[in-house]
Amino acid sequence: MHSLLACGAALLLEAAGPPVPGVSELTHLQAQFAPVDLTVDLSGLAENERRALARMVQAARVLDAVFLRQSWPGSPAILLSLAADRTALGQARLRFFLLNRGPWDRLDHERPFLPGVPDKPGGAGFYPPGITRDQLLAWQASLPPDQRARATGFFTVIRRGPEGNLVPVPYSEEYQGELAEAARLLKEASALTAEPTLKTFLARRADAFLSNDYRASDMAWMDLEGRIEPTLGPYEVYEDRWFGAKAAFEAFITLRDDAASVRLARLGAELQSLEDSLPLDDRFKNKKLGALAPIRVVNSLFASGDGNHGVQTAAYNLPNDERVIEEKGSKRVMLKNVQEAKYSKTLLPVARVALAPADQSRVSFEAFFSEILMHELMHGLGPHAIQVGGQPTTVRERLQDSYSALEEAKADISGLWALQQLVDRGMVEKSMERTMYVTFLASAFRSVRFGLADAHGQGIALQLNWLLDAGALRVGTDGRFSLVTDRVRDAVRSLTRELLTLQAEGDAARGRALLARLGVVRPEVQRVVDRLRDVPVDIAPRFVTAERLAAEFP
Ligand code: ZN
Repeated sequence: MHSLLACGAALLLEAAGPPVPGVSELTHLQAQFAPVDLTVDLSGLAENERRALARMVQAARVLDAVFLRQSWPGSPAILLSLAADRTALGQARLRFFLLNRGPWDRLDHERPFLPGVPDKPGGAGFYPPGITRDQLLAWQASLPPDQRARATGFFTVIRRGPEGNLVPVPYSEEYQGELAEAARLLKEASALTAEPTLKTFLARRADAFLSNDYRASDMAWMDLEGRIEPTLGPYEVYEDRWFGAKAAFEAFITLRDDAASVRLARLGAELQSLEDSLPLDDRFKNKKLGALAPIRVVNSLFASGDGNHGVQTAAYNLPNDERVIEEKGSKRVMLKNVQEAKYSKTLLPVARVALAPADQSRVSFEAFFSEILMHELMHGLGPHAIQVGGQPTTVRERLQDSYSALEEAKADISGLWALQQLVDRGMVEKSMERTMYVTFLASAFRSVRFGLADAHGQGIALQLNWLLDAGALRVGTDGRFSLVTDRVRDAVRSLTRELLTLQAEGDAARGRALLARLGVVRPEVQRVVDRLRDVPVDIAPRFVTAERLAAEFP
C-alpha cells in the first residue's frame, strides 16, 4: 500500500506536459453536473430483503474498485494520493476524479486534468502498458480460432507472460481478490432473500465471478421477477475504445417501480392497434408484431463502476452476449428516479431558457417519461424487414449512414404521434395533450445542445426544423420558442408519415436529402443553445437511501 501511495504522489509532482485546470476551472467543470439526492422507497420490504440489498450494495462497491483498475491501472494510486491531499486544489481534483472515475475529463474527449497523466490508452487497462492496437491485431491474427476467441472475449484481459509473450488472463484470475469478496457478499444476499428468482440470480452470479462463465447467470438475470432487480457484473464494452471487446464491471442495484410498470403494460397492450393505424400505406404495415422485448421500470438505489461516471446512465439494454440473446432475448431497464433527477436538474432549466413563459409552466415529468417509454416502444413499430424491387432487404441495409439518425427521429416523432392517439382513445389522461408537446420541445433543446455528431442530436435537429417549417413552432422576439397548438398535431403526423414511408421504400437518397436539408442547427436554434451554457449538462447523484441502508446493516 505504501509503495502505491509514493508512486501516485510522484506522478502528481511531475508537472510536465500541457497545463491542467486549477481550482476555479475544476469548480466550473464540476458544476456541469448538478448534485442530486437519489432516493428509493423501501417501505414494505421485509428486514431480510433489506439486509440482502445492503449486501448487494457492498458487492457493488467492490466492483467499483475493479472498474477503476480496468479503466487504468494507474488510477488506484492517484485516488489514494488525492484522498490524502487536504488542500483546496487536492479536494477539487478528488471530486472531479471521482466523478470521472479516473484522471481524464470524459465530457471533454478524455482530456487529462491532473499533471503528469498520459493520454488515456485506447485499450484502457485491458491490455499491456505500451502496446499498440496494431500489435494486438497482428497477435490476434496469428492465433488459431479457439485461442483467438479467448483473446478477444468479453471476460479476459491481455497480459505479458514471463518471456514477454501475450497471454489472455481470465477476469476470475486477474481480479481474483475482489471477485472472491463480491461473490461472498452475493452468496450472503442469496441466502437472505426469500424471492426465488433473485436467490437464483445472485447465487449464479457469485459462481460466475469465480468460474468466469457468465452464461447461466445472464439467463437467470432475464428471469428476475421480484421487486429487487440487481444488475451487477462485467457488461458494457465502451471503455475498450480499441476493440469494444472487453466488458467493464458495473452495478445497478434497483427496485421495480410498480405504478410505472402497470402504465407500461397498458401502453404495450396497444402496440398492434397503433401499428395498424400508423400514418403509412397499409401494404407496408406489420399485420402481426413479434413479441415485445421486456422493459422494466425501476428506481436506482445504488450504481457503481462503469454504471456511475460522467453522464449518468438512464436506461440500459442487456445482456450483450449474443448466445444468451438468441436463446432468451434481452431486457431493457429504465431508471425512473435517474430520469426524474435529470428532468428537474437539466430539463426544467432548459425549458426556462428555451420556451416562452406560458409554455414553460406546462412542461411535466409525466409527459417526459411517457415520451421516453414511447420512444423505446416505437423502435419496434414501422418498417424493418422490407422489399425493394421484389428483393427482401432491411431498412438498416438500405439507408446505411443515414439509418441511425432517421430511426431515432422516427422513434421520437412517432412516439409523440402515438401518445396523441392514446389520448384520443382515452387510454392516456387528457391532460397529457397540454403537456406532451411543450415537454417534447424542451427535451429537444436538451438533446440538440450535445451536438449533431450523434444520431439522436441530428434526428432532433431534423424534427425541430420540420416543426418550424410547418408553422408548429414560433420564435418570439426574445428568441424563445413557443408552440402553435393548432398546427402541431398535423406537423407531427406529416413527419411521422414522411419518415415511415421513406423507410418502407428503402429510399436512401430521399433520407440523405432530408437530413442534409433539415438535420442542421439553424441560427434561431443556435441562439438558444448558446444561452444554455450555464445550465448543468447532467447530474451527480448521491445515493442517500443506500447510505442509510449501509448504516443500518453494516
Ligand atoms: Zn432510440
